[in-house]
Amino acid sequence: MDRQQEFVLRTIEERDVHFVRLWFTDVLGSLKSVALAPAEVEGAFEEGLGFDGSSIEGLARVFESDMLVQPDPSTFQILPWRGEREQTSRMFCDVLTPDGEPAAADPRNVLKRTLAKATEMGFTCYTHPEIEFYLLESQQLGPDGVPVPVDGAGYFDHVPGGVAQDFRRMAVTMLESVGISVEFSHHEAGPGQNEIDLRYADALQTADNIMTFRTVIKEVALMQGIYATFMPKPFSEHPGSGMHTHFSLFEGDSNAFFEAGAEFQLSKTARQFIAGILRHAPEFTAVTNQFVNSYKRLWGGGEAPSFVSWGHNNRSALVRVPLYKPGKGQSSRIEYRGIDSAANPYLAYAVLLGAGLKGIEEGYDLPAGADDDVWSLSGAERRALGLDPLPSSLHDAVEKMEESDLVAGILGEQVFEIFLRNKRAEWNDYRLQVTPHELKRNIGIL
Ligand code: GLN
Ligand code: MG
Ligand code: MG
Ligand code: MG
Repeated sequence: MDRQQEFVLRTIEERDVHFVRLWFTDVLGSLKSVALAPAEVEGAFEEGLGFDGSSIEGLARVFESDMLVQPDPSTFQILPWRGEREQTSRMFCDVLTPDGEPAAADPRNVLKRTLAKATEMGFTCYTHPEIEFYLLESQQLGPDGVPVPVDGAGYFDHVPGGVAQDFRRMAVTMLESVGISVEFSHHEAGPGQNEIDLRYADALQTADNIMTFRTVIKEVALMQGIYATFMPKPFSEHPGSGMHTHFSLFEGDSNAFFEAGAEFQLSKTARQFIAGILRHAPEFTAVTNQFVNSYKRLWGGGEAPSFVSWGHNNRSALVRVPLYKPGKGQSSRIEYRGIDSAANPYLAYAVLLGAGLKGIEEGYDLPAGADDDVWSLSGAERRALGLDPLPSSLHDAVEKMEESDLVAGILGEQVFEIFLRNKRAEWNDYRLQVTPHELKRNIGIL
């Protein structure tokens, strides 16, 4: 046993931990959990814990259903919302095949593979997510068939005595106590909409943090008698919930995106990385925006990007390069604004990073940035500037992904196939629906 594993066993004993939850993630990004008795943890470290992989979306085919989860001791945390006595803790797990190999379809493994590639190229990847979500009165819809937000406030509003304020205070405290540092939190533009920004960390840790974040936010909301949703676009008339993510690559101790004196202080590496993301964005959007509902956000205004563009200080851009602050070369980074709050963070970060690395490998040229508000241009103007649209629906996104060697390579054949199958089924279900919108528009006149 290694020292981290010993530390976990000792902590379990000293803190009188009664339950050790093993966490892993399915292909769509749903958290899976199995609770272990403390006496079983040592065995799980050594041999893993068996489960039926075929019952988990996307993990295994029925004929190879036996799988193992093996806890990663570096992710051990006590879960404070389960109370002070008879404590509960958790560890993220790697999924293994019965012969102890990493499972091809484990999303955490998909990201690890992409990060290993970055390491081979000499880079460490840091990420910093801005996570938006809505706070609702409850999971039930209101009388008019739409969700009921907890307040009517807007961007950066300070609402004295407001539900959202108490919520953010408790949520941030809870996040800090599970080792997740928060940089900013504020009310967002929609009623009941909030944003919490996590401090940068390496990409695997960020993805683990996002999974924990969603659980913490949902638990804290329940404690306060409200409901939190990461659905990309719960209201037709209010902005959706994005998960803008800032990326930077480091070579040793120095930021590989920074070059003093270059245009926007962006190094060639940064320009190639952005070019990779832009060129492949339509192919990987099914992963970063994985639900039918995701496309209501992308095409619904509210500062969500709809076109493949990059800009310096332009909120309609898909990739934004934040303003350079003199002397802050180490914080040079790029922001991807397409991804939404319901993405599987492991898979989404794998495709984003993988596309950026591809740009570096192949030495892609970065097209000119767009200084204009790209929504206000005409179709012809946009075409002249080479501003392609993002996919217009899940169906469109799936068709583009099917053709992508890059995405197939990053996800691996098994995840690629399973993901596409799941998404085609989601689209077909949706296509069969006759919606209240159609009925309202059509029934009186047709
Ligand atoms: N909610 C917007 C989105 O969907 C972002 C708004 C903002 O943070 N400026 O991406
Ligand atoms: Mg923000
Ligand atoms: Mg925001
Ligand atoms: Mg942002």
